[in-house]
Amino acid sequence: MGAMKDFVKSFFLLELFKGLTVTGRYFFARKITIQYPDEKTPMGFRFRGLHALRRYPNGEERCISCKLCEAVCPALAITIEGTEREDANGQKSRRTTRYDIDLTKCIFCGFCEEACPVDAIVETHIFEYHGETRGDLLYTKQMLLANGDRYESEIAKNRALDAPYR
Ligand code: SF4
Ligand code: SF4
Repeated sequence: MGAMKDFVKSFFLLELFKGLTVTGRYFFARKITIQYPDEKTPMGFRFRGLHALRRYPNGEERCISCKLCEAVCPALAITIEGTEREDANGQKSRRTTRYDIDLTKCIFCGFCEEACPVDAIVETHIFEYHGETRGDLLYTKQMLLANGDRYESEIAKNRALDAPYR
């Protein structure tokens, strides 16, 4: 019975017409091809791109060198060294003397920003960056702070949109 069914299907080219129906449906459907880089798709506020270190509005670094991000990173991409400091109110605090992220190891899981108690390390919406040598993708503290300074308005906006879900 099965052989007869297969014969009928083959004889009348039923599988072929079934396939052509799908082709026809997509042929007349609205096209979704994006002409990148002239056009871009919308991006979610939780997009995890290039990392940045943020400051408070008074310019003070948010990071208190607690090393939670370093501990939680599954790729061992973060290296931190820290020391004591006084914060803007004269209280004892800590700051990093070294904060490196090796983006050749990073898997963009977002655990570092989830773990940070002061919203210091974040992942921005920036994905158009590259390195020509391995060293270009080793982001130092100064580079990360520069990213934070440059993209702070977008970062703050996206963090505010994410706040109700945290
Ligand atoms: S995004 Fe994930 S892998 Fe990358 S530095 Fe943060 S915790 Fe590590
Ligand atoms: S970025 Fe956040 S989690 Fe990482 S050391 Fe600084 S304060 Fe701690």
